[in-house]
Amino acid sequence: MPQPPTHLADEIGIALGNLADAAVAPFTPTLRLGVTGLSRSGKTIFITALVHNLLTGGRLPGFAPLTEGRFIGARLAEYPDAAVPRFAYEQHLGALTGKIPTWPESTKRISQLRLVLKFQSNRFLAGALGHSTLNLDIVDYPGEWLLDLPLLSLSYAEWSAQALERAGRPHSRHEGEPYINAISTLDPLKDANDRDAEALAIAFTEYLRASREDGRALSTLPPGRFLMPGDLEGSPALTFAPLPPQHGQVRSSSLYAMLERRYEAYKQIVVRPFFRDHFARLDRQIVLVDTLRALNAGPAAVADLETALTDILSCFRQGDTNPFIRLIARRIDRILFAATKADHLHSTSHDRLEAILNRLVASAARRAKFAGAETRSLALAAIRATREGAIEEGGEKLDVILGAPMPGEKLDGITYDGKKEIALFPGDLPANPDSLFEDGEPVALNFLRFMPPQKLDRNAEGSIILPHIRFDRALNFLIGDWLR
Ligand code: GDP
Repeated sequence: MPQPPTHLADEIGIALGNLADAAVAPFTPTLRLGVTGLSRSGKTIFITALVHNLLTGGRLPGFAPLTEGRFIGARLAEYPDAAVPRFAYEQHLGALTGKIPTWPESTKRISQLRLVLKFQSNRFLAGALGHSTLNLDIVDYPGEWLLDLPLLSLSYAEWSAQALERAGRPHSRHEGEPYINAISTLDPLKDANDRDAEALAIAFTEYLRASREDGRALSTLPPGRFLMPGDLEGSPALTFAPLPPQHGQVRSSSLYAMLERRYEAYKQIVVRPFFRDHFARLDRQIVLVDTLRALNAGPAAVADLETALTDILSCFRQGDTNPFIRLIARRIDRILFAATKADHLHSTSHDRLEAILNRLVASAARRAKFAGAETRSLALAAIRATREGAIEEGGEKLDVILGAPMPGEKLDGITYDGKKEIALFPGDLPANPDSLFEDGEPVALNFLRFMPPQKLDRNAEGSIILPHIRFDRALNFLIGDWLR
């Protein structure tokens, strides 16, 4: 049964009202769902859609508790951990449903939100006792932060050696050279001072950023907070960079020793608490992957994304040498890999997109089972910005998508203004995903960013319906079994 009418203003009211209502029944079970992915993979959109769909009983035919008529409703509740920022749901929904709908601002730090779900259990005893409730805690965090896990078992000298070796590799030369040059004229054993430390941290961050530029590599190297600092921007724990390893005793007042101390502080006050207080407490995880952006950028970017995913996913593996992982990995029992923005393709290509995602995560999966967790891959669009159509070209029927490209998007010499709607044939994804990883002819694909849907339907109760693709299936996999 859908829940009573809610409009945006009502939802804000619910949220505020519930701040005073922290008293959720003490025995209510809690499911902690982690939502992660690299920057711009679609976390903010996914969570906004998730919350809105549950609050309004959205169009979710693949979400069993709803189709079986057992889902009663959801409401926002105060989050028990006051130290963590709240996911700005109302603000994000406001952007998507405003007079001129726009995409909201992306995830830059950790945030959380609690929904209380009410349902009719179909288990004999629970069902007979009336309604059941579940706290759904959604934890949104940058995937970049997961790349820091290996640092916990590396000394400053070991990390420096790795980082400098990577920066000096031939294919990284363009991005790495300025940093390598900056340290080549510097004596690591000179007296420590903040100016040098800051200048090095800035130069190293620049190198990390350049390695991720659009159309180039997609992988990210640690430290994860250098590009996604969250609230720690400018703090000393983030003001370090690699220096050539030194042999023997190092003077404690030297620059080298200062940066070494800051590296250790980064591990102690940034990395470890994140894994211990947030990551380790998750029950379920969705990893969002912007597969299409990598495909657009070519085979090197695809290979790079595969490396980044393998690094990220190693956090979910068991039996690794890092004792921290053993501590963490046991809890998460389901992981969903989602290729986001599937609305950039015609539905006839969705299965192929899923196959490519499977291939991308396969090497990580092969290396070790994900701590016994059940895994699945799905191509989805949390918010569908396009419609489908067909055009004829040279006597051939082409499946196209219709939508308004974002202002500034370019194709065939035309720059779009965000208003003009076009029919786009994005190209065919290869039937064999392996071909994407091989050097050779890049696949000719055209993906443009589209404006969010400009006209949204409302349900019988007047709530906005967010269109999606396979989002209901994702929801069912992630939380459906907890609502039985
Ligand atoms: P985050 O950095 O992971 O939080 O990424 P966002 O959720 O902010 O998404 C980044 C951008 O990707 C958005 O601004 C949208 O342009 C686009 N995007 C995300 N999800 C979808 C989707 O389901 N469909 C479409 N068409 N675009 C999406």
